[in-house]
Amino acid sequence: MSSTRTPLIAGNWKLHNTLADSQALAGAIASHVGSGLACEVVLGPVATSLTAVKQTLAGSAVGLAAQNTYWEDSGAFTGELSPALLLDAGCSHCIIGHSERRQFFGDTDAGVRKKVSALLVHKLVPILCVGETLEQREAGQTLEVVLGQLEAATDGLDAVALAPLVVAYEPIWAIGTGRTAKPEDAQEVHAAIRARLAELKGESWANTVRVLYGGSVKPTNADELLSQPDIDGALVGGASLSAENFLPIIDAGVRRAES
Ligand code: PEP
Repeated sequence: MSSTRTPLIAGNWKLHNTLADSQALAGAIASHVGSGLACEVVLGPVATSLTAVKQTLAGSAVGLAAQNTYWEDSGAFTGELSPALLLDAGCSHCIIGHSERRQFFGDTDAGVRKKVSALLVHKLVPILCVGETLEQREAGQTLEVVLGQLEAATDGLDAVALAPLVVAYEPIWAIGTGRTAKPEDAQEVHAAIRARLAELKGESWANTVRVLYGGSVKPTNADELLSQPDIDGALVGGASLSAENFLPIIDAGVRRAES
């Protein structure tokens, strides 16, 4: 299978790792990636470790992702971070609309859209998460939910503005549960995401968009998932917390790039 899209393997460390843990893990990953591999690698530490991890990553090709942002640059918004500050801290990417944010912190489609737009203004790459619950899947609503989230998050933004967008399809029932979508089921959703992006914003751009899969990706299932034509990488939670598990997933990304 050959794709012109460079695979992307992103680690979401969620609310894990002290400063020292973060630097040690980032150091191990930076040594593996060096000045660059055939696939792109991005790490998402907690906000308090971003600057230190950026320093650890210096000289390597590993990118830095925040796990969330607010959409305003500055102001009376206690507790928030802005795209401008994330850029200042050395971020290149930001995860947006993760299901844990939607579920526990009230992130809405409308807010996700504002965040995507604000990140793009600051030339940060949004990693936009979409995904259905188990109930929605069982009710046959997967595409309706996922494509609805996609449409809402990109509403009013054209292909030029959206150019760097990365989408992560993360079925909620597969996140942190050890259950993984069957590669062919994930492929079906990924293909539908790309087709909807083509309808909405144009086919030539849609063909360049990386659509990652997330949901219990591990060394033992990464190759199979990444062998699907529209699975351009992975957003990895649990297995990104150790070099032992994450490095083989990076290597699966390299194999996809070289296949
Ligand atoms: C995630 O947090 O985005 C995720 C996919 O987690 P896990 O890999 O642990 O399922």
